[in-house]
Amino acid sequence: MSSQQKIEQLREELHQYNHNYYVLDNAIISDYDFDIKLKELEKLEEENPQFFDTNSPSQRVGGGITKNFETIIHKNRMYSLDNSYSREDIQDWEKRVQKFLGTDDIEFTCELKYDGASINLTFENGQFVKAVTRGDGFQGDNVTTNIKTIRSIPLKLKRDFVKNFEIRGEIVLPLKGFLKMNKERFENGEEEYKNPRNTASGSLKLQDSTEVSKRPLDCFLYQVITEERKYKTHFESLENAREVGFKVPETIALKKSINDVFEFINFWDSERHNLPYETDGIVIKVNNLQQQEELGYTAKAPRWAIAYKFKAEQVSTVLNEIKYQVGRTGAITPVANLEPVQLAGTTVKRASLHNADQIEKLDIRINDFVFVEKGGEIIPKIIAVDFTKRPMYSEPTVYIKNCPECNSELIRTKGDAKHYCPNEFGCAPQITGRIQHFISRKAMDIDGLGGETIDLLRKENLISNYADLYDLTVAQVIPLERMAEKSAQNMISGIKKSKEIPFEKVLFALGIRFVGETVAKKLVKHFKSIDNLMVASFDTLVSVDEIGDRIAQSIIDFSNNLSNIQLINRLKLNGVKLEVSSESLKNQTDKLQGEVFVVSGIFYQLSRTELKKAIEDNGGKVSSSISKKTNYVVAGDNMGPSKLEKANDLGVTLISEQDFLEMISE
Ligand code: AMP
Ligand code: ZN
Repeated sequence: MSSQQKIEQLREELHQYNHNYYVLDNAIISDYDFDIKLKELEKLEEENPQFFDTNSPSQRVGGGITKNFETIIHKNRMYSLDNSYSREDIQDWEKRVQKFLGTDDIEFTCELKYDGASINLTFENGQFVKAVTRGDGFQGDNVTTNIKTIRSIPLKLKRDFVKNFEIRGEIVLPLKGFLKMNKERFENGEEEYKNPRNTASGSLKLQDSTEVSKRPLDCFLYQVITEERKYKTHFESLENAREVGFKVPETIALKKSINDVFEFINFWDSERHNLPYETDGIVIKVNNLQQQEELGYTAKAPRWAIAYKFKAEQVSTVLNEIKYQVGRTGAITPVANLEPVQLAGTTVKRASLHNADQIEKLDIRINDFVFVEKGGEIIPKIIAVDFTKRPMYSEPTVYIKNCPECNSELIRTKGDAKHYCPNEFGCAPQITGRIQHFISRKAMDIDGLGGETIDLLRKENLISNYADLYDLTVAQVIPLERMAEKSAQNMISGIKKSKEIPFEKVLFALGIRFVGETVAKKLVKHFKSIDNLMVASFDTLVSVDEIGDRIAQSIIDFSNNLSNIQLINRLKLNGVKLEVSSESLKNQTDKLQGEVFVVSGIFYQLSRTELKKAIEDNGGKVSSSISKKTNYVVAGDNMGPSKLEKANDLGVTLISEQDFLEMISE
């Protein structure tokens, strides 16, 4: 046998042993024999460097050091999941899904919600290529070197799957491993880790992969993403992923109805305490991939999935004090300072009380014993007061009347849950908060400028609003604490670069109350420039799709304020984009004005997203379900039969992809 053959054989064997041990939990070789074989492979590889393979089992032990993790933009965004807490929530979701799809012929998969750190693995031609953390969902960190040390992740697939794909999963630290790590830390006199989830996600970002390889991390896979349409259902794709070597927990189940889903939930609600790892809920997914595609995504989460959160753990503790925080929009949030207490693996000291109504509803008072709840990611919440333990002479809580920061009298408009400090331009946390929002990633995304620097700039009186940023000079910022020449230059050039940011992000950055990312986009589409927007009347504003009274009034208030007008003018003079560029206007027409479209099926010339964009760019509206208001259904291949029927019933015109393209090119 040549050394190449020998190397390949050993690699094959060792991959198999790993799979048996770490995925199937069924060792077929002793640790000792495994080590001998691994040493043999390492020796051969060293003697024959021409046969190096980054996916060799010898690469599992780590060794690579990553100083800075490379940022990688996800090919497919990593969404969150919508949450539900009750049977009704799930039934509502089912109804929405049925309505959307126009059928009640829907199967579901049930999976546990593994509590760890999400990861996206890329495979090409049966080989592991890279691993990227979820990050903010749009881009994450390249943690390939660290991930490779997790033995239950196959580096080479056992047999054909799909050629190129991404597979998503959760990196978890099983409880046994977690407790063992903590025991060691305790014995070494080191501070113990708080909980498995944080430890798992922290592990991914360790610089030394050798250290990662020592941690008993595991990886459970829950989604395959591929352009090949080999599998028709989610369940089938997972079962096949398991066959080729991935660790897909055996707990996943296929369910024919929502009632069967409830059985699954009931079972795991108590049984979860016997699992070797933590779970904070169940994830329910529409099984049919074609239906998943039809359902698509909201701004945050897939419509085809929902998480059900188990009831959280509860403890009781004492309320020491209520503090009031002022947000960037002036909104006041009461925060409870609690006697520190252990809850679900973390120490809880604070909990949000949301607003005055909440305080009144709970009838919560200083020195009360309160029940605190926390589940997974959720910030601790005060559920109720333990009235049996209320001190004899307690006083009802009186909500503050004046701003704790600037003493202005607070206002509360009808229909608003929160009190506001109206001193927009004189209240410190509002001023700072607005600038911080302005520079944030989803807004102006200014490189080299963070929240702390804003605090410093404010303290030194160098800025008092976001327009001031554009007047800053390198010479002004160099003297700031911890500011080197290089970082000063970065900061100024980052600010300059933000002048390229498109109008819709700028509009969001302005921080107008109730104008979030989505609303900003809608407004930009309709008004095209800040000038048009600022002179729009209330009636014009509310006539825009999805703009309600509250948003309209907020825009009017903003536009009527002299300080805002001045700020906008200064931004304009500085070259910040306050209108849609002529470039992007070029492709926009109002050919489809007033027409409502529904898009269904598979398309070939445009992707679904492109198709929807083309409709909107030409003034049309995309709706998700067929109704009397629908004018056209753009019907692709495999359009659902129930949709077809509905379209026919309502006499809606069906057009092909080609028809549509002709329609807009006329
Ligand atoms: P959340 O962060 O609460 O919005 O929930 C979304 C996250 O749940 C995803 O990013 C995954 O990391 C995680 N997750 C855990 N188990 C599953 C599962 N079975 N299916 C989908 N996501 C899951
Ligand atoms: Zn104030």
